[in-house]
Amino acid sequence: MATIGFIGIGVMGREMVPNLLKGGHRVRVFDVRPEAAASLRSHGADIATSVAAAVGGADVAITMLPDTSHVQQVVLGAEGILAHPPSGRVLIDMSTISPQATREMSAALAKVGVAMLDAPVSGGPQGAKNATLSIMVGGDGAALEQVRPVLAAMGTNVVHMGVSGAGQITKLCNQLVVGINLQGVCEALALGRAAGVDLGKLRDALLGGSASSWMMQNLAPKMIDKDADAGFRIDLMLKDLRLTGELAFALGTPLPGNALVTNLFLEARAHGEGDNGNQALYRVYDRLCNREVRRS
Ligand code: NAD
Repeated sequence: MATIGFIGIGVMGREMVPNLLKGGHRVRVFDVRPEAAASLRSHGADIATSVAAAVGGADVAITMLPDTSHVQQVVLGAEGILAHPPSGRVLIDMSTISPQATREMSAALAKVGVAMLDAPVSGGPQGAKNATLSIMVGGDGAALEQVRPVLAAMGTNVVHMGVSGAGQITKLCNQLVVGINLQGVCEALALGRAAGVDLGKLRDALLGGSASSWMMQNLAPKMIDKDADAGFRIDLMLKDLRLTGELAFALGTPLPGNALVTNLFLEARAHGEGDNGNQALYRVYDRLCNREVRRS
């Protein structure tokens, strides 16, 4: 069993840590919001007051932070992981961030003998709670085998994608499908609503056929019930779609679907919806159609 320093106790981290504890691991948690870290004391986590205190002497460090700049601060900052590496010399970054920045941090950490795995996840807070996350791993294969039991406590599908950054690239492909699929669900509900179809029945019918999807299963009910709560915030969705667009541009790969859904989410954010869940894309269609998408 491992001692783990876990940094970032947000929507995902607060669900993942209890599963590590249930798996028999010892976990020290740190978040810049002390109340977020303290909320895990009752689950048996030790509360740390800095990155260095969480990670020092640990077998493995895990980061679950919002964006590239946060991971860079926690890894490269004066009090960060590069300056205070875990004894076990492995960092698992489970955030979704830039593949290029990942490679740069991985190279810097390698110089002090620390292996960095990029291991972003899919499955949302529910997958985190149920320990059924899909985990897409880039980086050294031997380091992955060293920490595989730790990852297995949080997810059921752990796939080694290749070298550093490959996990992040896979996650961006995932988000491309998520965004465009969400848009498709929104459009189906908008059209069904305009035609006077019962949206609950519409969803039931589509779930049984080839239009079924995770979005239709998990987020369409929230759309129909006009529940915009996060979940996965629109600000984070936009971050992922921006990273996807940047990667595609750098590679000269046209992604018109990514561009369109990015702009629809920008419309949502312009209406103050950045903290809403990504299913709140339905509100964009409410505005486009000048009518509310709700159960007939
Ligand atoms: P979140 O914003 O809810 O949580 C991030 C946490 O990091 C916050 O508690 C914040 O206070 C903390 N933090 C920020 N800077 C810090 C620092 N310098 N040191 C310590 N703590 C710091 O985000 P989330 O929804 O948990 O997502 C985390 C990552 O996982 C993101 O990259 C996101 O894209 C990805 N992700 C999220 C979901 C989801 O459904 N929410 C699903 C899959 C992947």
